[in-house]
Order: sequence, then structure tokens, then C-alpha cells
Amino acid sequence: MRETLVLNASFEPLSTVSLRRAVVLVLQDKAVVEQAHPGLRVRAAAVEVPVPQVIRLSRYVRVPFRQRAPWSRRGVLVRDRHRCAYCGRRATTVDHVVPRSRGGGDTWLNTVAACAEDNHRKANRTPEQAGMRLLSKPFEPTPADALLLAVGGRGGGWDALPEWLPQPA
Ligand SMILES: [Zn+2]
Repeated sequence: MRETLVLNASFEPLSTVSLRRAVVLVLQDKAVVEQAHPGLRVRAAAVEVPVPQVIRLSRYVRVPFRQRAPWSRRGVLVRDRHRCAYCGRRATTVDHVVPRSRGGGDTWLNTVAACAEDNHRKANRTPEQAGMRLLSKPFEPTPADALLLAVGGRGGGWDALPEWLPQPA
């Protein structure tokens, strides 16, 4: 998958985004192309634009180092790319790794995307108790993710998140 580097207006690297997202930001005048692939063009809407390798945000955005991305169910689904943490199939629900009934909270580190079947099967148990294994560990989006989300999202919603998020380690 082709990725584009995003620089702050101050040229400080912030993150990478998908080519599609980069083109949208440029077309919306939220970013300018700093470097493009020689010879490659991409068709977006009714126009053809160079394939951006590096874009720079039009306006400087202050990176809120201490700011944490607010937790939401939709945010968890988006963070996990709608993949079930237990089986990898399409997820439509959010599972609390440690169930709420056992004190588990609505936090990034305690929630994962899950398919309805696995969520139902796990019920009010921990993965260990249910004999289920997490394919990947839940993680907290970085401040840069939250920041870019606010810049790129329509109304700053979590809808724009998948493009901004790095792959979990
Ligand atoms: Zn599943």
C-alpha cells in the first residue's frame, strides 16, 4: 500500500497517510504537495494530480503531546480496522477484554473490535477463562493520530481515523 508522509506546516514530520487520504487533503487545500512521484498521476474526482510522496499541512497544528485520544466504540472499531481481535473476520462489535462486570473499563487498552459471534461466545469472561486468544494487543492511538484526525476528519470525527493510524506493533 502506497503511503504519503505528512509534514506539519513547520516541516516537522507528523505521520503517514494513505495515498487516497493525501490526495483528499490536497484537494481540500488542507495540505500542499512537497514531493511527488515522477511521472505518476492519480485520478481523483474529475482531476488528475501527481502522486504525492510528501505533503505539508497548509496550517501549522500544535502537537498536543499530553493529549489523549478520547475513547469511543467507533474509535476502537476504526483503530482495529473492523477486524475481530479473536478470529480476524469482520468485526461489528466492541469487546471488553476484562468484562465491565469484572471491573474492566472503557479504555483503549481494554477494548478490541470483535465479531458478534466471538463477542457472544466470550460473554462475561476474560479471554483466558473463555479459552480465546487475542491475535493482537490493543493499543492507544498516539497524540499525533488524534491530532491528524482533527485536521483531516470531516468535523473531526473518528471516521477519518483508519487512514492515520500506524499498524499496531
Ligand atoms: Zn471473531
